[in-house]
Amino acid sequence: MHLFRSKFFYSFLVILFVCSQSTYIAPASAATVTEIDLRSEGYPGNYRENSKSSDKFVNLSSTVTSYRLHFNRIALANGDRVSVSSAYSTATQEAGTIYYSASGGYTTDVWTPWITGPAYVNLIVNNDGQTSTGYLIDKIEFNGTSSPLVNSAAFFPNAFTSASNISVYQSPTVSTYGYSSYVTTALNQLDNITNANIGFTNSTSTTAQVRISANNNADLDYFAIVQPYDSSGKAITELESKTWSYATMVLNHGVMTKWGFNSTNKQGTVTHEVGHLVSLMHQKNYDVNSIMKAGKKNITTFTPVDIANIQYRW
Ligand SMILES: [Zn+2]
Repeated sequence: MHLFRSKFFYSFLVILFVCSQSTYIAPASAATVTEIDLRSEGYPGNYRENSKSSDKFVNLSSTVTSYRLHFNRIALANGDRVSVSSAYSTATQEAGTIYYSASGGYTTDVWTPWITGPAYVNLIVNNDGQTSTGYLIDKIEFNGTSSPLVNSAAFFPNAFTSASNISVYQSPTVSTYGYSSYVTTALNQLDNITNANIGFTNSTSTTAQVRISANNNADLDYFAIVQPYDSSGKAITELESKTWSYATMVLNHGVMTKWGFNSTNKQGTVTHEVGHLVSLMHQKNYDVNSIMKAGKKNITTFTPVDIANIQYRW
């Protein structure tokens, strides 16, 4: 069920791969820039000592030939450092190719050199009791073409039988935390996609097919969650081929506030979640332009990739 979350933590895959360190200046006209949100654990709060949880694997389409990452900001305590590496060593916590370090303080607006192949972003701490806020990567520039998940590959193997008239109950908490209009807008976006048979009906019944609520718990690890259930009330996992009986959608105002979400970020998250309601899964590659990427979003609507998938399925 975690896999339905709008995650800001990523899989800590231990994979060995070869990565060229060669750098070159790519033709500017061929490159595409897209927004991502890849940040150290706790950002904009402080990272922790003795933590390896800030190691992020950079997922990219196999058809991306080279790329570089843009650090919006790197703030480090004395002796700590950030690397972008071709492999991850559990002994050294890195296999460094590119380092950013600071003797305390911070730097902003840093592009890495061009990178070929997968990479990890590592935050290495020296356990001296001092921490800072870590890093935020906000852009990726890449050469080559993006390869999004399309058609059936873009969907969970489980769904509502039909999406033509899904009943929706909203808990008063949705209004309490100010998300009513975001929910309405997101549902309308789906409803208005042409050549897709999707519709929603508001319901006052707490046993509606979709049950939306909000909370204010900044200590939890998600922006929002969609969780489907079968007819016996059992949670359906991402890989199960089951029919949805109903689904819950929980919006976490606390975490969105902690991450400094503005109205665009909130709308993006709620639209992403209603994408899960029609069984769209995450687009895991950072180069893909999709509302279904995990993380904080600076877009508010389904992209052409998403719309084509929705039209294929529904
Ligand atoms: Zn999600």
